[in-house]
Amino acid sequence: MKITFPHMGNVYIAIKGVLEDLNQEVILPPRCSKRTLEIGTKYSPESICLPLKINIGNYIESIEKGADTIIIVGSNGPCRFGLYSLLEKNILMDLGYNVDVISFDPPNGNYNLLFKNIEKITGTKNMYQVLKKVNIGKKILKDMDNLMDISNKKRAHAYEKYKVDNRMNSFYQSIEYVHGSNEILNLIDNTIKDISIIEENKEKDCLKVGIIGEIYTIIEPFVNLEIEKKLGHMGVEIEKSLTPYKWVEHHWGKGRLGIGEEVRKIKEAKPYLSTLVGGHGRETVGSAVLYAKKGFDGIIHILPLNCMPEIVAQTILPTVEKDYSVPILTLIVDEMTGEAGYNTRLEAYIDLLKKRREHANDKGILYGS
Ligand code: SF4
Repeated sequence: MKITFPHMGNVYIAIKGVLEDLNQEVILPPRCSKRTLEIGTKYSPESICLPLKINIGNYIESIEKGADTIIIVGSNGPCRFGLYSLLEKNILMDLGYNVDVISFDPPNGNYNLLFKNIEKITGTKNMYQVLKKVNIGKKILKDMDNLMDISNKKRAHAYEKYKVDNRMNSFYQSIEYVHGSNEILNLIDNTIKDISIIEENKEKDCLKVGIIGEIYTIIEPFVNLEIEKKLGHMGVEIEKSLTPYKWVEHHWGKGRLGIGEEVRKIKEAKPYLSTLVGGHGRETVGSAVLYAKKGFDGIIHILPLNCMPEIVAQTILPTVEKDYSVPILTLIVDEMTGEAGYNTRLEAYIDLLKKRREHANDKGILYGS
């Protein structure tokens, strides 16, 4: 069995580690590229949202590399994600691919099917062993979030920013060749050490921008046109409202106890949006309020074209912008997004934030605050 799964930020690193620890063969989809998107766009319904198109491209590119089993995650979600697993299975079947598609749908009382699927993918009936490995997978996600934070901060402050890019590129190249969770965790540690010693200007007071929006768009660098790297090169520190580890913590950790950051976002969103609108639409509004309260210089909202929950959030964000006097930039991405126009909008926005900062500092000097 040669197992594959779609790309979603760094999630693939944790799944690879867990499955390899369980002696399964993993075929990683090539990193998302123009080709991935072209394939996905060709075979997906035109009006479906961008993540599904890229998923389809990932599956087909993995099948070309020899994958014969695909893991898909299902959902009951009120947005189109609820239909993803069904739609993706049908597309692959219609294209005549002879692959086993295993869908992990919410059990809705049918735990037998869930255990059967886990057993099939992991090759063991020992659920205790599987759980132990899943915990290691969580640790990989946490460490990856940490690495991303460290590299993003370093890029904003470093004298030679390309050194951070080079180290991260070599990390992503190496990850394909290491095997199992121990080697992965070691590689993450070594990368953090290497990045930490890159020289930086600690005195520099960088602009701080919060990135909010649809989770896939925030965490998949190909889809957001590497926004973290772009902002880092402009000397901007960023924080992402959603990451794979934050998601796991909310659904399988603190969130279950009714505490944690995601729960707070829902509370902060309440005066503007009190009901679930699917996806992370409500959390997007809450994140904007949180970043504004934390004194971030700006907020960037990214969403795929046609994303229903984020369109709801988009209509509310101008009110948050006004209430908290924080500039919010919205970037909508799809297969037609041109990088030049995207860069221009980002640059103009960062210029605006710099001017606002200067203006605020001048006022401070004038009035002695
Ligand atoms: S959150 Fe938006 S982009 Fe993601 S599946 Fe739902 S509608 Fe599509």
